[in-house]
Amino acid sequence: MDDLFLRIIKGEIPSSKVYEDADTFAFLDIRPINKGHTLVIPKTKYRNILDMDEAVLASFIRTVQKVARAVKQAANADGVNLIMNNEAPAGQDVFHAHFHVIPRFTDDHVFERPKHTAYENDGERDSVAHSIAEAID
Ligand code: AMP
Repeated sequence: MDDLFLRIIKGEIPSSKVYEDADTFAFLDIRPINKGHTLVIPKTKYRNILDMDEAVLASFIRTVQKVARAVKQAANADGVNLIMNNEAPAGQDVFHAHFHVIPRFTDDHVFERPKHTAYENDGERDSVAHSIAEAID
């Protein structure tokens, strides 16, 4: 059974399409954070950025930039957030890779201020940086 977004690409579920090319598809989010909130997806199914093929990722991010420019202009926005939720604890509900392109307006206050943490000391910060650096292949 195809996932929700594959069914949208095929037209089995209606959507407000704004862009399509060989590798990518973009359509309005059904529950917009601001008007013009758009989702960009690869036409091939990937769960999220963590399992995406590099070549697909390149065309995906090119479309994200194209759509971000268009959304900003069309919505007459002051800025644009690009958000990708990867895995459920990060807020992912639909497990077909997608970027949210969200037009932003001065003082729209649509997001709460994020919660911050702090490192215990320089040693802990260096050790976190080291373990990430070691994990990069
Ligand atoms: P995420 O929480 O990052 O997985 O985002 C999934 C997004 O898909 C949400 O913002 C939903 O509003 C959006 N969404 C779910 N179903 C549809 C649909 N049929 N058409 C357009 N957007 C949808």
